[in-house]
Amino acid sequence: MTVSTKPVALVTGSGQGIGRGIALKLAVEGYTVVINDVVADPSVTDKGPYEVKAAIEAAGGTAAICKADISSAADRQMMGDFIDKEFGRLDLLVNNAGVAPRQRADILEATEESFERLMNINLKGPYFLTQLLANKMIGYQKAGIVEVPRIVFITSMSAYVSSTSRGEYCVSKAALAMGATLFADRLGEFNIPVIQIAPGIIATPMTSVVTEKYDKLIAGGILPTKRWGQPEDIAGVVIAVAHGYLDYSTGNVIEVGGGFHIRRL
Ligand code: NAP
Repeated sequence: MTVSTKPVALVTGSGQGIGRGIALKLAVEGYTVVINDVVADPSVTDKGPYEVKAAIEAAGGTAAICKADISSAADRQMMGDFIDKEFGRLDLLVNNAGVAPRQRADILEATEESFERLMNINLKGPYFLTQLLANKMIGYQKAGIVEVPRIVFITSMSAYVSSTSRGEYCVSKAALAMGATLFADRLGEFNIPVIQIAPGIIATPMTSVVTEKYDKLIAGGILPTKRWGQPEDIAGVVIAVAHGYLDYSTGNVIEVGGGFHIRRL
């Protein structure tokens, strides 16, 4: 097993959107970034994981691609083995991958199939990936390779804001928020900080299907900060975690939502 001299970060679902923004910023900060996505086609270079890898390398950074479906136990194991074999260390896990319902449907009509899909990807995937990789992190600590490994969960304001046209998404994120709390509690003993980031309305491919709706809401003043969030807004908080600035804040939620949580009269 070779041990990388650079710190290593795994960012799930980083072929686009928020994960891409996080990956690019971590690479600038000196991390080797493992770009994970469920689709990774080397012949596609203008978007997806290979575009992100090229952008990182063009800026002088290092990255590797690990194609894996986080909802699959075999794929999670393969990702863990890949990190062990290629780098021999993991300094930061960013549980970012997540999906919205394929179709928004009222909670009185939404299907069990969509519920199961979201639970598998948004909850079971990051929950058991964290279980697997936290154990590896403890091993890297014991071997003296990484002093303070860190874990980030990208949840959502939907963990506590009701949207009845995508109830299964809200429920998956609410449960994941408790997952983040549980791991923060359990991993305190090992000095592995766990921070939850709850994005608000962020401009990514996921939200591109509801641009008009959110444009109107933002123009109408739903957010104190009158603009869409950008992946860089989330990435900035991840960098603060990576630098250890939030270590003693383990178990906390950082909302990145332009002040959406502020109750106003
Ligand atoms: P996005 O643009 O759809 O990107 C998500 C990425 O995750 C995609 O590259 C997707 O790949 C990948 N992915 C999906 N299923 C996966 C799986 N099973 N295994 C591995 N990768 C998988 O979404 P985003 O807006 O950047 O969202 C990133 C995270 O932030 C999600 O957890 C989301 O719930 C959360 N979030 C987003 C917002 C927002 O306003 N955008 C707000 C709150 C929270 P494919 O495209 O190939 O499926």
